[in-house]
Amino acid sequence: MNIRAFSDLGNQALLRRLAEEVAHNCESTATLIALIAEVDERRLFLPAGYPSMLAYCMRELHLSRAAALKRIDAGRAARQFEGILGAVADGRLHLSAVLLLAPRLTRENADELLAAATHKTREEVEQLIAARFPRPDLPTRLEAITPPLTLGSEPGATNVQEQSKSVAPGRLDSAAPRTKLAPFSADSYAVQVTIGRGTHDVLCYVQALLGHAVPSRDLAEVLDRALKALAAQLEKQKFCATRRPRRGLGRTSANPRHIPASVKCAVWQRDGGQCGFVGETGNRCPARTGLEFDHVDPVARGGEATVENVRLRCRAHNQYEAECVFGAGFMSEKRAEARARAKARKQAKMRAAAEETQMQGAAAEARARDAAPDRSPAPANDAASRWRPTWRAVAPISGCRNRHAISAACT
Ligand SMILES: [Zn+2]
Repeated sequence: MNIRAFSDLGNQALLRRLAEEVAHNCESTATLIALIAEVDERRLFLPAGYPSMLAYCMRELHLSRAAALKRIDAGRAARQFEGILGAVADGRLHLSAVLLLAPRLTRENADELLAAATHKTREEVEQLIAARFPRPDLPTRLEAITPPLTLGSEPGATNVQEQSKSVAPGRLDSAAPRTKLAPFSADSYAVQVTIGRGTHDVLCYVQALLGHAVPSRDLAEVLDRALKALAAQLEKQKFCATRRPRRGLGRTSANPRHIPASVKCAVWQRDGGQCGFVGETGNRCPARTGLEFDHVDPVARGGEATVENVRLRCRAHNQYEAECVFGAGFMSEKRAEARARAKARKQAKMRAAAEETQMQGAAAEARARDAAPDRSPAPANDAASRWRPTWRAVAPISGCRNRHAISAACT
């Protein structure tokens, strides 16, 4: 197979070929699951010299552990519920969905549940399961966590396995995920997160400030209020969103690319904070992050910053539409120029910072020399000592309390 085997295909033909291949792959996956399930059922891995189907798949078929486990579990579920294999073969269910649904399937609900999960993403299937099989809320907890031991931190610690055994039950070990957000029911999610001491202190302070409004100090309530306040603040920063747009917010500017705040606010509300690009098949881009305000009629062609002429686009679609108007080559040149300008600005900033550090170091050195009595050692005769560095000054880097610049000089 050559990586450029399809480079001669036109765009539509390429997309059609890809869709055909995906359909073929779905059928192959279903066939593979059925074959694995049959070998598993007959326990043919035993006469072949393997203790389990997993070992057979990994050692004999050279599948990865994860790929093997998924297919074995899917095969065992498919033997119980016939609808699974057909859904995988048709591309209606992916393997992750099958594995999420399998523990919940019964003779009574299998057909309906498999149909409800058709063409859903993993996250959507998780939400579907949470809505159908809600779990009780987790108890709210806020507790200190003892950090996991590190290599060599205790006398006698010899290897990682021994250390992991020494971590007491209930503590998080180093392999535990730092964050987790999972749907628990149609209207509730469980959140697990590790926060630093500073965040903890701010949280306690906010709980105290909310003393009358939230007397229970309930974390879920505090989190809800904090996130809503943050969302409003970010909307204001990013999109100039406000409940009551004031006249005069859209101050005039000589820059034709300037978009008044009132226009940004109206466009953001009209487009619902989502990229407005709609594909040829009617699919609207789901992007809600990294959005940009894009002129429908480009500024270069006289387009103005009005609500009608401005729209929300994700960066990828903003660039794509610009390429459609001005050509890919032209936009590539413009992007290269912008990158060069950004690089030059960054280098100039780094040079200025280095010069400032140097000047601070020299000033500190001069102060230290003036204040301290002369304790310099007598000059040595050997060549090595002449090149030994002497620490002259330790000066803080401007604006950062925990970092210090150390200047050294050779005598
Ligand atoms: Zn988009």
